[in-house]
Amino acid sequence: MTYDANNIFAKILRGEIPSHKIYEDEHTLAFMDVMPQVDGHCLVVPKSGSRNLLDADPEVLAHVIAVTQKMARAALKAFNADGVQIRQYNETAAGQTVFHLHFHILPVLEGQIIKPHSGKMADHIALAKQAEALRAAL
Ligand code: 5GP
Repeated sequence: MTYDANNIFAKILRGEIPSHKIYEDEHTLAFMDVMPQVDGHCLVVPKSGSRNLLDADPEVLAHVIAVTQKMARAALKAFNADGVQIRQYNETAAGQTVFHLHFHILPVLEGQIIKPHSGKMADHIALAKQAEALRAAL
């Protein structure tokens, strides 16, 4: 299994397709998931290419997990959540659909039902507002 730089997140990183960006540094980008499972569902990706956790450089993982923690704290605050789920899938059998390493961040309210993975495309105005709320909470 090799990394294919034509995946959608590599295109987002290269600026070839738009995204609602929340945070960016030298190693990492965080942006809204376009088919969110909850309000505030966002993704953290490394700028360097790996399919998933299995082939990632541990140094890259260290950067990504630190930003995932930062985003999880912001998501908790911005959405007044009671908890935060971090999800990460490796290969098709495990539910991975985009083959560039990413961590999902889902702020969750007590008793909230989480929508199915890769379900419905969200309204872009709503996503822009949520990205703004997350940026303000960083
Ligand atoms: P995976 O199944 O690989 O863990 O999750 C891929 C995620 O990427 C899904 O939650 C899906 O909604 C999201 N996604 C797919 N295409 C796009 C896109 O073009 N832009 C953004 N921002 N998210 C996407």
